[in-house]
Amino acid sequence: MTAFLLSGKTGVFGIMGKPIRHTLSPQMHMAAFEALCLDNIYLPFTVQPEQLKKAVDAIVPLGIRGLNITIPHKEAVLPLLDEIAPEALGIGAVNTIEGSSGRLIGHNTDGKGFVRSLLEAGVDPAGMSVFMLGAGGAAKGVAISLLNAGVSEMIILARRQEKGAELAKRLCAISPRSQVTVAAFRPEKGQTSTTGRPILLINTTPLGMKTGDPLPFPPENIQSDWVVADLIYNPYETPLLIAAKQIGALTVPGLGMLLHQGVLAFEIWTKQKPPVEVMRKALFQAFPDLQ
Ligand code: NAP
Repeated sequence: MTAFLLSGKTGVFGIMGKPIRHTLSPQMHMAAFEALCLDNIYLPFTVQPEQLKKAVDAIVPLGIRGLNITIPHKEAVLPLLDEIAPEALGIGAVNTIEGSSGRLIGHNTDGKGFVRSLLEAGVDPAGMSVFMLGAGGAAKGVAISLLNAGVSEMIILARRQEKGAELAKRLCAISPRSQVTVAAFRPEKGQTSTTGRPILLINTTPLGMKTGDPLPFPPENIQSDWVVADLIYNPYETPLLIAAKQIGALTVPGLGMLLHQGVLAFEIWTKQKPPVEVMRKALFQAFPDLQ
């Protein structure tokens, strides 16, 4: 809860999505507001796709200062905004809206948040070969940030090859010198060796969220010198990460990306240095077994 009594001065922030029940963002941002003594509140808003325009049109009139945008609105929200930051435009998706100036400015902090989570785990993606599982909304942001961070090569393994090809085309348009190819979602055993560069495998599919989901990648293809990252943050460690850890690979769970996309959004909204450790602790409170 906010340390302030709610008043006409309280700044309103929040997240729009559907479903929204699972979101951990309110606890992360409320903890940060409280730590910096900011008289702000962060609310979850369930917004049906057909109500998105009405909800976005209400942001400025209601004086809402900032919002996160999540599934399924990240792409649909673009034409409803006044301005899109270049990175979000390149990605074609927005996860953060800045509204305090009376104009709605869209940003995307997902990819940069992912790269920060890698760096924090001691992994510099520059020069690595990336196997990207999935080609959806989150994959786009992550892929662009990885190319900006200097990965040497990217192989997109997509269930629908046409989606993978579409993403590869977009990435090559943004970064013409990058080497991006598309491959079958389930590679044959041993089919994954590339040019001898260090390998980063990233799961951007939802496989691993539900008990009983198949692994998104054959564990027998993973080697002990790989880095394996998952965007899924609940469960904290997915079956893919558990299998990779058993092989000896370095694993990076999705909670770090959730933290750092939120840290970057907080910075955009408040122009203040975010209390990263407070935000991390607030997120970990959702996983009592890890404490
Ligand atoms: P999305 O746009 O729906 O994309 C999902 C991708 O996964 C698509 O390429 C889809 O392929 C593929 N996929 C779905 N089910 C599959 C299956 N059974 N087998 C193979 N491929 C499958 O979703 P998103 O927004 O990118 O989110 C993806 C995941 O990232 C979710 O788990 C989400 O929670 C997580 N995420 C985490 C963070 C974080 O901060 N840690 C941030 C954003 C997202 P098709 O095109 O063939 O359907």
